[in-house]
Amino acid sequence: MRLMSSGRLHATFEFGDLRVISLRDGYIDMPPTRLRDEDGCALDQLPAAVPLVGGNLRLAVNAFFVTDGTRSVLIDTGASDVWHEPTMGLIYDALDEAGVDRARVTDVAITHRHEDHVSGLIAPDGSEAFPELERVWIGAGDASVFTGRLEPIRDRVVPVSEEVAINDWTTAIPAPGHTPGHTVYEVRGGAGHLLVWGDTVHVPALQFDRPNVSWEFDGDQSQARSARAALLERLSRPHHFVAGAHLDSPGIARVTPSGDGYALEHLAPPIG
Ligand SMILES: [Zn+2]
Repeated sequence: MRLMSSGRLHATFEFGDLRVISLRDGYIDMPPTRLRDEDGCALDQLPAAVPLVGGNLRLAVNAFFVTDGTRSVLIDTGASDVWHEPTMGLIYDALDEAGVDRARVTDVAITHRHEDHVSGLIAPDGSEAFPELERVWIGAGDASVFTGRLEPIRDRVVPVSEEVAINDWTTAIPAPGHTPGHTVYEVRGGAGHLLVWGDTVHVPALQFDRPNVSWEFDGDQSQARSARAALLERLSRPHHFVAGAHLDSPGIARVTPSGDGYALEHLAPPIG
């Protein structure tokens, strides 16, 4: 997996015959009290290695566009304008910067129902952000999100309830825990396996070193912990890479075992 080009809001990687484009939607600040130990309590003390901005954790928000030149899939869509603080919603600018026409986006795969992942299907002006949209995969347990503002998209929703190929090189894999329908997408290129894993980790500076640390918004804490353990084990195999919604942008990295946990090696310099 090789970085080809990057800008303020995107980074493009060569991945065998595929191109993987990381798109930065923005960031969100959250208090460190959202971190949970194995008893479900807030952590007593945050290690000094975890950076804070004004006392908060700053989570990057990324989406990923993968194409073979003919077929493409956009995995997650950012927050559009639904968040109370306007720190997200940059995915449309990121697509422009990367040279991806929104009308090329026919297939979208959503990792889970939360606003910073699904809301970008509708642009701030209320129109559909992707005018040629044909299919939206989402875990069956999260498919009820397509009401209200997202209602116009509902006729194109494809619920995922088991491991299933969504194109020649992408497989949807249910990984519930963060939400009931949380789904990861494995992209296979000539260069290996890329696991686009949604919200498996929220605070990379802590949760690779200590994978048992969980997040308040993991709906089922122990299920999310098990899913994280299984995915980290899978990622530590050769020729495996991770693309994370909340890993520091551009959020594409290699994972290796380290001590009782794992270490993260980014494949590109930071953007954003
Ligand atoms: Zn998220």
